[in-house]
Amino acid sequence: MKEYRGKSVHEGIAFGSVCFFDRGYTDIVRVDTAYPQIEIKRFETAVTKTVLELQELCEKAGLLVGDEKAEIFEMQKMIALDDLLAEDVKKYILDNSCNAEYALSKAANDYTARISLLEDELLRARNEDCLDVFRKILKHMSNDEAEEPVLKQPVILLATDISPGETINLDKEKVLAIVLLGGSEYSHTAILAKSLDIPCIVQTDVICPANLHGKEAGVDGKEGLFYVEPTEEIITELKEKQRQIRKRLQNLQNMVGLESRTKDGRLIRVFANIETPDDLPKVKEQDAEGIGLFRTEFLYLSRSIYPEEEEQFAVYRDVIAGMEGRPVIIRTLDIGADKTVPYLSYVKEDNPAMGMRGIRLCLAQKQLFLIQLKALLRASSYGNVSIMFPMISSVWEIQTVNELILEAKKILTEEGKNFGNPKMGIMIETPAAVVIAEELAEYADFFSIGTNDLTQYTLAADRTNPAMDIYTNPYHEAVLRLIEMTVKSGHKKGIPVGICGDLAADLTMTELFIRLGVDELSIPAGKVLSLRKKIRSLDCTEKKGKGK
Ligand code: PEP
Ligand code: MG
Repeated sequence: MKEYRGKSVHEGIAFGSVCFFDRGYTDIVRVDTAYPQIEIKRFETAVTKTVLELQELCEKAGLLVGDEKAEIFEMQKMIALDDLLAEDVKKYILDNSCNAEYALSKAANDYTARISLLEDELLRARNEDCLDVFRKILKHMSNDEAEEPVLKQPVILLATDISPGETINLDKEKVLAIVLLGGSEYSHTAILAKSLDIPCIVQTDVICPANLHGKEAGVDGKEGLFYVEPTEEIITELKEKQRQIRKRLQNLQNMVGLESRTKDGRLIRVFANIETPDDLPKVKEQDAEGIGLFRTEFLYLSRSIYPEEEEQFAVYRDVIAGMEGRPVIIRTLDIGADKTVPYLSYVKEDNPAMGMRGIRLCLAQKQLFLIQLKALLRASSYGNVSIMFPMISSVWEIQTVNELILEAKKILTEEGKNFGNPKMGIMIETPAAVVIAEELAEYADFFSIGTNDLTQYTLAADRTNPAMDIYTNPYHEAVLRLIEMTVKSGHKKGIPVGICGDLAADLTMTELFIRLGVDELSIPAGKVLSLRKKIRSLDCTEKKGKGK
């Protein structure tokens, strides 16, 4: 047995075989063939399909955001059509009488190795584009249009790191646990793992992950332990822990239908965060009182084209209708930083978390934003809906948003489409927003504090960078004071204040938040009942020397 240690992101026990995912090339096995010409043809057909796909993307992006920015797809087309690549693949197939996938994986390694030796920094930065093109060609060869990783059976997914887009595309039924060598606790991949209720550990001290592919393993998410080929003793221990977790969850069921009210009578709204409509059954099963954060950007991730108004409208409407009158707070697109999509983020930024993300991207690409606003306004007539805006740092941003909402309503009226009148919320996740919260409150029906970003921006510590972990401390006095200031400003202006960042789910903080006056806590659905139980156990009556 080998025991590896990582950092806990989400608790839970899992057993299964390890699948090492290294961006599409792991599952490629060499297959000998007597018909190399057929393999060459398969490769050529896949390249043609890839070029067509890229052409479509290029046209679409050109229409939506201008030709200049669609250039990335032109460039990817050139990579797909590169004679050097084609020659290498064909030669490999002919010399080795093997399948096209294997030949491509070999040629791709040589290709990216050549690029990484180039002097020109810009060209070197094209490596990711090359990998993207190779993935597309592979996808077209496999007749399987799904994004990687394609999992054939339930596995413990082991990877250096995976992007939020890749995580959202995972077949949840087939991922028993996620073990990352890199990763960080507050990254969006970690957030997804929590909301999907998949045991997850990051920064695991595995050195040669590929060697573990196919081996039997066990994961203890809470302790951050990853056992490869566990002993009988460890298996028994893990099974016992698994039994206890199940029992605890079962006991929590008696919280269903009860109020989230403290002993001294404070009623707190306990809401759930969701990333996709697939999360809805869990939200209802766990009796969340509403949805406090629907991260809509997950609709946009790992797709090749932007979701159109009709598609977005249908998704929002179904979520809203599914909540049967309970409040639903939908956040507009928060793309950028660690959540990138090929059709929106074109310019490589040295410091993306400080760059074109969230509301900034939407205001820079108003036509795209209008599509989402129209879909949201239409869907809002199906229930109790609020729209909220991420990454606000200035009053002019929210004023511009209001103008765009008016414009969206005008277009909808002209198009003869019905729409509702949702409430408007502002996410407080930059220190600037806290400082000007009273001014911002003039434009908002509520505030929702995003502690993940508030921590990152207050402490100048990249939430996705494992080396920054000791600095990315949401319990830092500065962050807690900013939360307190936000609540005071919101209440002074007569609007409620919630928390939807990860800190909201930390039960050791619940009492403090309630004492500070927080009105709503929005957390992963799987934790709703334990938070309700915690709230019901608290007595927050002012006591001398206790609390804030
Ligand atoms: C936050 O920043 O706390 C938040 C809720 O938004 P996200 O994690 O999606 O950036
Ligand atoms: Mg945020």
